[in-house]
Amino acid sequence: MRVTFLGTGAAGGVPLYGCTCAACQLAHQDPLHIRRPCSALVETAGTRVLIDAGLMDLHDRFPPGSLDAVVLTHYHPDHVQGLFHLRWGKGKPITVYGPPDSEGCADLFKHPGLLKFETVHKHEPFRIGPLRWTPLPLIHSKPTLGYAIEGPEHSRWAYLTDTHGLPPSTAEFLKGWGPFQLAIDCSYPPKDLPKNHNDWHAAIACGEQTGAQTTWLTHLSHAVDDWLLSERPDLPEGVQFARDGLCIDLTAHPR
Ligand SMILES: [Zn+2]
Ligand SMILES: [Zn+2]
Ligand SMILES: [Zn+2]
Repeated sequence: MRVTFLGTGAAGGVPLYGCTCAACQLAHQDPLHIRRPCSALVETAGTRVLIDAGLMDLHDRFPPGSLDAVVLTHYHPDHVQGLFHLRWGKGKPITVYGPPDSEGCADLFKHPGLLKFETVHKHEPFRIGPLRWTPLPLIHSKPTLGYAIEGPEHSRWAYLTDTHGLPPSTAEFLKGWGPFQLAIDCSYPPKDLPKNHNDWHAAIACGEQTGAQTTWLTHLSHAVDDWLLSERPDLPEGVQFARDGLCIDLTAHPR
């Protein structure tokens, strides 16, 4: 199983429109520092699944037939906005799995076009090809699910955005799951009262709490990048920053 971070930005992205902080200036100068809407591609030999659909060029990146499914964490715009264009396409329906949410986002449910929405439920695993997905509840301002994904050769990946901390049932599931790598929401630099999203400390605590082998920080805002540039904090062992385009081969890290 291979995972590629297609986007690692919080809502607003990096550079943030109109911002002149050091991180945003750097992103204007060097595309390596750009953070697009938070999303990832999960691949095995014969299966490709997109987690979250906030990128606005999905129609260019994924020609018809190149995706087996889309799996959504929740219906905030930065995680679904790419679907608004895709839905008016032609061809085979695209299955979109997502959490129970009667509202969804705008008129997506009313006019799904090409998209076939399927609701998945916490702790009720489902399969896409050889991949087994276990939805895990998160703590956010909209119904949100993270996913524990198991691929061939015991490769395991957990993708948890957007969230502030973890419900006990999610932490317990992951603790007993076996060796895995984790992608976790880290939207804020250290903050007094983070809401809806992890700050730096809460993100690192999620990694420790679940026993992840490697914790990848994602859903990063320009404020985190700016703080990193000025403070240059030490990264705890096993914690790393995701960046757009970073690809991780999980089959190469067996138990
Ligand atoms: Zn988000
Ligand atoms: Zn900025
Ligand atoms: Zn959100």
